[in-house]
Amino acid sequence: MINQVKEIPVEGITYKSLRVKKKPLLAEYVPPPPELVPRAKRAVCIDPAHTCMPLGAMWATLGVHRAIPFVQGAQGCTTYVRYTFSRIFREPATIANASFHEDAAVFGGRKNLVRGVRNLVCRYQPELIAIVTTCSSEVIGDDIHSFLDEALDLMEEELGPEVREAVKFVVVNTPSFAGSHVEGYNRACREFLKTLARKSGEAGEHVYLIPGMMTPGDIRELKHMMELMGVSHRVLFDISETLDCPLVGMPNRIPYYPPGGTPVEAFVRAGDAQAVWALSPDAGSAGAQWLERRYKVPAYVVTMPIGLRNTDHFLRSVAEATGRPIPDRLRWERGILLDAMADTLHYTMMKKVALCGDPDFVAAATRFVCELGMIPTYILVGTKSRRAEENIRQACEEYGHQPVVMNGGDQFEWEYALKNDIPDVILGHSRCVNIAREIQVPLVRFGFPVYDRVGYQREPIVGYRGGERFLARIVNAILDHQYPDDRTHQ
Ligand code: SF4
Repeated sequence: MINQVKEIPVEGITYKSLRVKKKPLLAEYVPPPPELVPRAKRAVCIDPAHTCMPLGAMWATLGVHRAIPFVQGAQGCTTYVRYTFSRIFREPATIANASFHEDAAVFGGRKNLVRGVRNLVCRYQPELIAIVTTCSSEVIGDDIHSFLDEALDLMEEELGPEVREAVKFVVVNTPSFAGSHVEGYNRACREFLKTLARKSGEAGEHVYLIPGMMTPGDIRELKHMMELMGVSHRVLFDISETLDCPLVGMPNRIPYYPPGGTPVEAFVRAGDAQAVWALSPDAGSAGAQWLERRYKVPAYVVTMPIGLRNTDHFLRSVAEATGRPIPDRLRWERGILLDAMADTLHYTMMKKVALCGDPDFVAAATRFVCELGMIPTYILVGTKSRRAEENIRQACEEYGHQPVVMNGGDQFEWEYALKNDIPDVILGHSRCVNIAREIQVPLVRFGFPVYDRVGYQREPIVGYRGGERFLARIVNAILDHQYPDDRTHQ
């Protein structure tokens, strides 16, 4: 439809001219010197496979009931994130910003934080505000805790002493030059628990799950498995009902908060948890391990439960820690996945696959593709992770594969490798579209971010049922691309 619109000027640019076509190589084109292709040998990162640290902390905060991130930085640090969330989840995301301008860059962001937090409390009455720093506030050296003390003193004078009890504050330092969105989520987990968690001494009834940057569909699948096992659980940073809500008429309350999200009280009771699972080792283990160190809550850091063995491992650890048996229904779901794998093995067996994405997703998916008989060739881990590389190498060794692992690399080097050794299929996020089109290989989207597919955020890839759907997507992509449409092969 959009291409039928003749000409709609967007500040002088037409839709037609927004379509970017790669120009053919010029005769004078000089390919990059091979020694400069590896990311490690270059000072610059070209086409990064990660985004900035505050995004991860904002993602986590939006999974808390009546919580708003307050971004201590320039408006651009928030605009891009809101745009990304809106594209992925197709839901509104409320994020406040300190609106740094030149004066804040010179004199610091004290005034911005004190006034901004006051306005946020008065207008939105949140239960929790997470102050998320940015590159600029970190470089200036903003003393966030003393700014916050000042803001609280002024609000107490103006609004009364109740304000101190009514709103909780968590400070998450996220200088983007020190890490990616994955580390931002990880730091948010630790800071939320450090700031809020207490131990009452009473035995808690729940186990806690920290999902990492899973989609609402994935989180619902985790809950489904826990319910089948009869395990009383709480999901921290639960975006399943804040970033995926039904449309039941226009929200007529301002401020509007979605009904879901982890209640603040769940964080406060975290010190009494029976056990805690970090299901994304690079995005969440810092919180789980802090709980273990501080309150002796047993922490389990497991590979994301994608595929057969990773899901087995997760469920077995839950069964052992809680004493709850794995029910027949889950065994049935496992059997269905196994059946689907056997049914399609002749399509997946020996197919070369390249992977790209965040460490937790890529490490788990690598084992899954090995289980499908595929051959991982080039694996780009967008955020450097020793643990992910170990997991990838271990899985590949078990299956006799030797992929090239670009740990902390960029898409420039990955693309270069793929052009010289074309795979049968790519598993990656939405930013892998260009390379997939260029080398004419099907792209199966997964991980973060997936913004160019409708419904991705509701379709799980974790658990046995998620694995079955993920498998179907992989096989259908191969069928579409490699098999004639005469049905004789299908
Ligand atoms: S990289 Fe730094 S300056 Fe840029 S958007 Fe992220 S936090 Fe803001």
